[in-house]
Amino acid sequence: MTVFEELESNVRGYCRSWPTVFDTASGAWLRDENGKDYLDFFAGAGALNYGHNNPVLKRALIDYLVGDGITHGLDMSTVAKRRLLETLRDTVFAPRGLDYKVQFPGPTGANAVEAALKLARKVTGRQTILNFTNAFHGMSLGALSVTGNAAKRAGAGVPLVHVTPMPYDGYLDAADELGWMRRALDDPSSGVDQPAAVIVETVQGEGGVNVARAEWLRQLAELCVARGVMLIVDDVQMGCGRTGPFFSFEVAGITPDIVTLSKSIGGYGLPMALVLFKPELDQWAPGEHNGTFRGNNPAFVTARVALEHYWSDGALQKAVLAKGERTAQALVELVAPFPGLSTRGRGLVHGVVFEDASHAVKVCQLAFERGLLVETSGSADEVVKLLPPLTITDDELERGLALLVGAVEAICG
Ligand code: PMP
Repeated sequence: MTVFEELESNVRGYCRSWPTVFDTASGAWLRDENGKDYLDFFAGAGALNYGHNNPVLKRALIDYLVGDGITHGLDMSTVAKRRLLETLRDTVFAPRGLDYKVQFPGPTGANAVEAALKLARKVTGRQTILNFTNAFHGMSLGALSVTGNAAKRAGAGVPLVHVTPMPYDGYLDAADELGWMRRALDDPSSGVDQPAAVIVETVQGEGGVNVARAEWLRQLAELCVARGVMLIVDDVQMGCGRTGPFFSFEVAGITPDIVTLSKSIGGYGLPMALVLFKPELDQWAPGEHNGTFRGNNPAFVTARVALEHYWSDGALQKAVLAKGERTAQALVELVAPFPGLSTRGRGLVHGVVFEDASHAVKVCQLAFERGLLVETSGSADEVVKLLPPLTITDDELERGLALLVGAVEAICG
């Protein structure tokens, strides 16, 4: 029995999908303790958009640590934080005409979501949040309340209240996918309380790579404005360039009231999260929402350098879109011969959808044996989700796609 089985809780998950002991990693590759290499099409669930141990970020981090830079800073002002805020303003906000205040919550996506929900409720004085079918927003009680998955919700052990689920784009297969939401908000007898906010992912990563159309997002944003409801875009997984542009909502030309970021915002896989909101929503009292680990200054350094290095021009965005197109094309060819398979995605997040969900799990298992890390998503684990680092080379992308094609053909052929 390994020490993992002996001591580590039954709650562990990914180590079951990928039963080996990893040791080192570089770029799009992980190496296990036996020296076997794995191409990473999971990228830390979206936390490693710039790859493992990215050399540019690593250099900055090492220099910062060697120079005795502040490591733990609560929300004290530090040089590392100042430089990050200035870079966010100049590199991300200003070119996009965005006027956001920045809150540093605890470092996880769930921390950011909790803060966003709390702020929307505080500002509006209302309780209800509208969420979407198949949404995923995290595991703490508030974040779980706006998450769809029944098994995850059941883990709460208490009623998850003050939320009303709405159909996500494509859920009803209706001509007007927002029809029910519009009706529910307009009709005082719909039974839907006037909400504080709507929380939405532009692409539902955990929910099965469900891609909302730009038009649907625009209509949703218009509806929120018309009804005085805050729009929260949870960009924890789809932000930081995953879909091409820095923010995933840019494609729709909308400006959410509140945005959550985590995962890749720290740049190096270091824990960090942000909540961005319009200045008039900044109604927090000092210290009203706090937390010990809001000042992960080494992450501020790698976050800042990632913004400077990758977002000062449009090169990464262009590369992501090109690699995304290549991926989409390869997947369309892959699924064509198989009636029970389909594919969908945007930028560098793609899914291969299996009518027979057991096939998706088997494909991931076989891919692992052959040296490719891919995971399932979706309510029945029916989708193989591709989430390679954005910095993956064309050769590595081709290699990973070939491994995936081989695994699908072996399982479904
Ligand atoms: N929101 C979204 C959209 C996510 O994908 C995730 C994590 N998969 C979270 C929130 C929660 O993030 P964390 O696991 O860091 O709490």
